[in-house]
Amino acid sequence: MIKCDQHMHSSFSGDSHTEMIDMINAAYDKNLDIICFTDHYDPLFPSYRKDEGPIFDLDVPAYIENAKKVRNNESIQSRIKVRLGIELGIYPEIWSLGSEIINSSPFDFVILSSHTAKKLDPYFPEYWENINPVDGMTIYFEEILDNVKNFNDFDVYGHLDYCARYTETTPEVLDIYNYIEIFRAIFKNLVEKGKGIEINSGGLRSKLKNFNPSKDILRLYKECGGEIITFGSDAHNVNDIAYGIDLASELLTDVGFKYITAFKERKPEFIKIN
Ligand SMILES: [Zn+2]
Ligand SMILES: [Zn+2]
Repeated sequence: MIKCDQHMHSSFSGDSHTEMIDMINAAYDKNLDIICFTDHYDPLFPSYRKDEGPIFDLDVPAYIENAKKVRNNESIQSRIKVRLGIELGIYPEIWSLGSEIINSSPFDFVILSSHTAKKLDPYFPEYWENINPVDGMTIYFEEILDNVKNFNDFDVYGHLDYCARYTETTPEVLDIYNYIEIFRAIFKNLVEKGKGIEINSGGLRSKLKNFNPSKDILRLYKECGGEIITFGSDAHNVNDIAYGIDLASELLTDVGFKYITAFKERKPEFIKIN
């Protein structure tokens, strides 16, 4: 079974209030071997929002300093491997700034995530106004393809069908055949670049009630030669750490993955799932 959770947030993210040390202790209690903090860095995001929400800027030096402090603690070192990553919210306006931050910071792991398309978060109903759900999803996936083609400083693409959490979850809208050519192109680029994807259990806790991405998308990724896959709970509090991890182990095994990937100093380690 998988014992590493490589997508979690701490109080350095605008939408989490949990201290790193509390996340680490909870992860240890849940029998995890490896965790990775991936706090949000999405500096232009607030300008896309119409309401007052959390701000997704990140104090990178303070984040690195704090992680260093907790990782130097010997009692933690003997119990669990704690790694430091980042979840970079990506869109063309951030490509050059993102590269600068990633290349000047000692991160173990970089998740690239699309939290917007058309400069809007699909979380907001206005994203879906005056557009049919299939077109709304298509635009979101096309923007992922644009990022994947043009940006290189990352390890995996996060929650690929995140937009599906916030629209009609009918079989027609979720049918991969509506988007299959875009996904083939995304996976061709990822595989050629030696990048991967994650299985994210945040969707299990949403009205979608499913992992992101879906099993069909995971299967297509495998067919396209994808081998690098990480597990992430996307926990913003102690309760959600490792959420759905056993279910993810079963699902990945069923799709044909034998290894889960963990990243250290931006290099993949392949760990047997069973
Ligand atoms: Zn995210
Ligand atoms: Zn996240």
